Amino acid sequence: MILIIAFALLSDSAMAIEEVRHSLSFPDDRQQTILVRSEFPVNSQLTELIMPIWTPGSYRVRDYAANVDQMTAVTGSGEPLPVLKTSKDRWQVNTGQVTTLIVEYVVSTPDLSVNTSWASSAFTLINGASVFLYTSASRDLPQQLNVISSPERGEVFTPLPASADGKGYGAADYDELVDSPVVVANAPAHRFRVKKQDYVLLNVGENEFWDGQQAATDAEKIVKETQLFWGKNPLKRPYWFLNFAVEGRGGLEHDHSTVIMTGRKQMRDRDKYIKWLGVVAHEFFHVWNVRHMRPAELAKYDYQNEQYTSQLWLAEGLTSYYDNLLMSRAKLIRPEEYMELLARDIHRLETTPGRKLRPVKEASTDAWIRHYKSNANSVNTTISYYTKGAVIGFVLDAYLRKESKGRHDLDEVMRQMYQLHAGAPYTPDDFKKVLAQVGGPEALAFLEPLLDTTADPDIDTALDWFGLKLDRDPINRLAEAEGEPVASGFGVIWDEDMLALVVKSVLSGSSGAVAGILPGDEVLAIGNERLTKDKLAGLMTAWQPGQATSLLVARRGQIIKLDIELEAAIPERFDILLQSDFGKRHISRLQSLLGQNLRQRT
Ligand SMILES: [Zn+2]
Repeated sequence: MILIIAFALLSDSAMAIEEVRHSLSFPDDRQQTILVRSEFPVNSQLTELIMPIWTPGSYRVRDYAANVDQMTAVTGSGEPLPVLKTSKDRWQVNTGQVTTLIVEYVVSTPDLSVNTSWASSAFTLINGASVFLYTSASRDLPQQLNVISSPERGEVFTPLPASADGKGYGAADYDELVDSPVVVANAPAHRFRVKKQDYVLLNVGENEFWDGQQAATDAEKIVKETQLFWGKNPLKRPYWFLNFAVEGRGGLEHDHSTVIMTGRKQMRDRDKYIKWLGVVAHEFFHVWNVRHMRPAELAKYDYQNEQYTSQLWLAEGLTSYYDNLLMSRAKLIRPEEYMELLARDIHRLETTPGRKLRPVKEASTDAWIRHYKSNANSVNTTISYYTKGAVIGFVLDAYLRKESKGRHDLDEVMRQMYQLHAGAPYTPDDFKKVLAQVGGPEALAFLEPLLDTTADPDIDTALDWFGLKLDRDPINRLAEAEGEPVASGFGVIWDEDMLALVVKSVLSGSSGAVAGILPGDEVLAIGNERLTKDKLAGLMTAWQPGQATSLLVARRGQIIKLDIELEAAIPERFDILLQSDFGKRHISRLQSLLGQNLRQRT
């Protein structure tokens, strides 16, 4: 009896200091709010409560504390404690001799995205960084989570394991807590197993346009191919694809899950469905590339400050290169579809003037102020490290294959990187070392200018190795061949969201920039003719490149006339074509890249 009491006392006092306990509830179905109650063990006079300003994987300051209200604090026995807000992301509580601090607050969730939280009666998504507080002492403590739902709100889903007492969920520390999204919804969970590893595709918003079973079957093919690619499985428990078919977009990677947002009818359109499959492949590839194998600058997350890395061309760009490739190797897309996706990346790169101003390394460092905060002029000043990184992936892969006569490739570099740097963060030099080991010092000399300078990747040489060539203006070439007029333009990107012809961006160096067109201008007429969205294509083929005319634009309530000399329209797309000497050797090289048998197709 004495022994039992002693044991009970011991475990009780040990419990009090060992963990942080969070409880989430939803006070009102009509209000988009989450009520958070957190119990912290404390041992100092003053306790500072901190709310992250960003969430890993999405390099933008989001100042989550802006949605936190009604903060109150009490001691373990319920005595109120005053709370003082000390900075945008911190609160201070005079905890004196108190050993337990209980805080309660309300989090509003006005924005639905993969990086924020959203509470509604239909479904709830919780991204931990936007909801949970920590203290300097609590970050490394185990965290318990309890979520109070109702049958109407739905079940609770999370990649977190069940807690020891079976009443909730347990995370080893704060990092794991905020890396584990929580979903509350009535949603079907499609389960599958690959090489003894469990996976779940949770389809929130599954509807008559979304075939959840088909999506799970296709996700399974991507999983199989990706596991085969890396050869090693770092997952310790089931992995969740938390998919929201709710007219959202994007994806965010976590250790044991990903949050994906997509359209409700995304599956009904082949092109859009391939986009969804691409996000699935991209996010799952991140389990290895960026979660377990991480740039040194992101080794330990600093939730209160920007963390700069020049390595997003690798972490995001090469992931973008492989998402398309793995869809092909999983035989979810045809070789022609892969070539279309590659041509799209090259087109995006080569029609972005900003690539001439900013090396991809710098674009990565500047992710916080450029990629995630793009404006009308971004197209002229920066380049996406996703796009350029993906094209670098292709030309580097082609280079390694060509120089080694097919004995080496980028896959090998990635696997060696993982071998060396899973759990041991890498510096920029580490990738270079591995590349030099696989491809020799020449490979390094090939890569460095692509990262450090604004030189364009030599896409034509890379395609040539596969017997392919790029047509940089297929539409006008076709028009010319058929004796039709070619399209003219003036180098602007239109705002697709507007019904009127409103300029979103003006490409630097274009005739539109020379004429003085500004973002936000509504173009009303060209020459003496009314210009509208549906007349645009027809009119721009009637006018010819080199012709001088004028534009009538509405700018901030005033009508302005601008003289302009038209130029060739920005090509709508690029096409990848077979070279005239395309033959057996090219087929075998493409088969090795795409993981598909091409014999039937050529
Ligand atoms: Zn990514």
